[in-house]
Amino acid sequence: MEGVISMAETVDVRALKEWLRESARRIATDEDVLSELDSSSGDADHGFNMSRGFAAVVDVISVGSAARPGDLLKDAGLTLVDTIGGSSGALYGTLFLRMARASGDADVLDAPALVDVLRAGAQGVAERGKVATGDKTMYDALAPAVEALDAAVAHGRSMSEALHAAAEAAEAGRDATVAMVARRGRSSYVGERSVGHADAGATSMAMLIRAAATTLGSTTR
Ligand code: ADP
Ligand code: MG
Repeated sequence: MEGVISMAETVDVRALKEWLRESARRIATDEDVLSELDSSSGDADHGFNMSRGFAAVVDVISVGSAARPGDLLKDAGLTLVDTIGGSSGALYGTLFLRMARASGDADVLDAPALVDVLRAGAQGVAERGKVATGDKTMYDALAPAVEALDAAVAHGRSMSEALHAAAEAAEAGRDATVAMVARRGRSSYVGERSVGHADAGATSMAMLIRAAATTLGSTTR
């Protein structure tokens, strides 16, 4: 019985593929929203960039032979670096490559491992982007998601509950970027004019975390 319960609380390659496919679906559906958010202070390409990148990831993982979470996340990261383009390509690539490295050669990730893996990815984004919370970037959605996931897991919540808490935190972080002045990336060039709309990358990041909540740790998978 214990074995059954603990199996439900881990993430394997199959579950991660579901997450990536669900992320791709959400990004494709909201591609125009993401590009619109990137238009007022960026170059209006974030939706197109993300859509192209995640479509490529879906292709790669459907033919790939990744046996472990680390292999799959690495395949995804390398594909995103090659296909998203722009600054977000390097940053999303770094997120997945650092998550891959933190997964090591584990066959499955349990909830505490998932916290470590996501935290390593967020750390990678912070380093690569030279970014902190409050800079109005994807990190403003990612960092609170890591903290919420960590807190929920530490309180013994189920993986699904913890991921839902992470998604709520990511969406709150995304919403908080509306009032921020961009300090990184193209948006930083327009200064105060970046105020009044959510950051495009924070919005796509919140979509990824929401997709994780609806796929990973779900008993209805
Ligand atoms: P580009 O800015 O090259 O056109 P995208 O439009 O695809 O690339 O992505 C823009 C998003 O990338 C921004 O909304 C922001 O969230 C994120 N971003 C840009 N620069 C940084 C950075 N230095 N650190 C973290 N995120 C960044
Ligand atoms: Mg752009």
